[in-house]
Amino acid sequence: SPSLVWFRDDLRITDNPALHAATDAGPTLALYVLDEESPGVRPLGGAARWWLHHALVALREELDRIGVPLVLRRGAAAAVVPAVAAEAGAGGLFWNRRYGGGERRADAAVKQIARSSGLRAESHQASLLHEPWELTTRQGGPYKVFTPFWKELSSHDFRHPLPAPQRQRVPEKAPWGDSLEQWGLLPRDPDWSVPLAEAWTPGPRAAGEFLEEFTDSVLSGYSEDRERPGQAGTSRLSPYLRWGHLSPFEVWHAIGRRRHEAPGGSAAFASELGWREFAWHQLYHHPDLATVNLRREFDAYPWWSKGDGGGQAALLRRWQRGRTGLPLVDAGQRELWATGWMHNRVRMVSASLLVKNLGIDWRLGEQWFWDTLVDADAASNPFNWQWAAGCGADASPFFRIFNPLTQEKTHDPDGTYTRRWIPELGTPDYPEACVDLKESREAALEAFRSLPRNR
Ligand code: FAD
Repeated sequence: SPSLVWFRDDLRITDNPALHAATDAGPTLALYVLDEESPGVRPLGGAARWWLHHALVALREELDRIGVPLVLRRGAAAAVVPAVAAEAGAGGLFWNRRYGGGERRADAAVKQIARSSGLRAESHQASLLHEPWELTTRQGGPYKVFTPFWKELSSHDFRHPLPAPQRQRVPEKAPWGDSLEQWGLLPRDPDWSVPLAEAWTPGPRAAGEFLEEFTDSVLSGYSEDRERPGQAGTSRLSPYLRWGHLSPFEVWHAIGRRRHEAPGGSAAFASELGWREFAWHQLYHHPDLATVNLRREFDAYPWWSKGDGGGQAALLRRWQRGRTGLPLVDAGQRELWATGWMHNRVRMVSASLLVKNLGIDWRLGEQWFWDTLVDADAASNPFNWQWAAGCGADASPFFRIFNPLTQEKTHDPDGTYTRRWIPELGTPDYPEACVDLKESREAALEAFRSLPRNR
């Protein structure tokens, strides 16, 4: 009987322990389930749906090369996965772990159903360098501060990546599957995906090329250039890591091999991978990270949210469309809208403007990023929004309110970035600033000072 591998956020054939274990056991089938039904599993945003479509095309090609047919199905995982295993007459079910609350519940249900029907069901570690429950503070709890977390994490040795499995004998029969087109993941009317496709090629092959380009040409200057949004000074690996076209082990060791030639860049980059791990550590311990302030005293902060009516709805729209009149923020928001990605420095400045100067609830910004980012993930996005809003783990102190004009001078001094994204900059078509930065800063600090402490 064949093995069944259930693919999720690990859309690759190299360094894929679940796929390895399955193929070691014999002929293998692969399954991807579009699950928009399991409670607590967040439906994908628009840009992510676009990415997923192309990622599955690429995965199918890779799997075909090693004799593993890919079956696509839709529905709640706990119903679909055991049903496909039964239809395939599978002897074993394999997957790599997920860490969100709803995902863990769904996976536990599948495991229980599978095992009660006598099926071998196995989960593996593939998407994080560490399991979130393995690292604890001396008191035995989760980490709240990055530096000691990173010190602990980076003192470990991480396993080397696994190669792709050898070509298999194709299983004699495969269960029925949906066609990818049936899922309607691509935008139709209007089709906003053209600039996305110019910016990105989803799939492991392009991921490998990005990684090589980065380690060969960008890594040595990474420590300085990473703060320049006008330059290609960062890796742009985030969507490839998000979708698991690359594993963090592959990235970790590729960077490690360059640590003598590019010591500063390698160390700075490794710690960014550390922030990714830290975000997942937080999500694992706080499954409601996208909705609840980690620092509960912020529950009393008078943020505006959608139900409240009033003028901020127009401000939210201006922010989303890149029409705030603050060039660095507008350039970032337009970059996001066009390409599904925004430079990290600009994400921080843009988020600070929204939650501090415009007084809009961070959850609305988080939701917008969720819908528009190709790298949106269930941990990094809410984690970083809470960080930017001051209510998260090891967050940026609330009183550190970025001034977008000063930030622009420091990080885009010659205007390369702003001019690239705002052709009408300096003409009457470009709007005035939508907010008085000084007054709104004072108002935010005042609201912060009046929060009840130590709840
Ligand atoms: P590089 O500088 O090359 O970093 C390498 C890798 O490290 C990234 O690919 C990413 O996997 C990881 N990384 C770097 N910084 C962070 C960070 N602060 N938190 C978590 N991981 C990090 N990143 C996401 O992957 N998904 C998100 O949904 C996301 N939402 C964000 C929202 C806000 C408000 C902010 C301020 C940041 C967010 N980030 C998110 C973090 C960061 O902006 C991106 O990871 C980074 O810009 C990706 O570009 P890169 O791959 O070139 O980064």
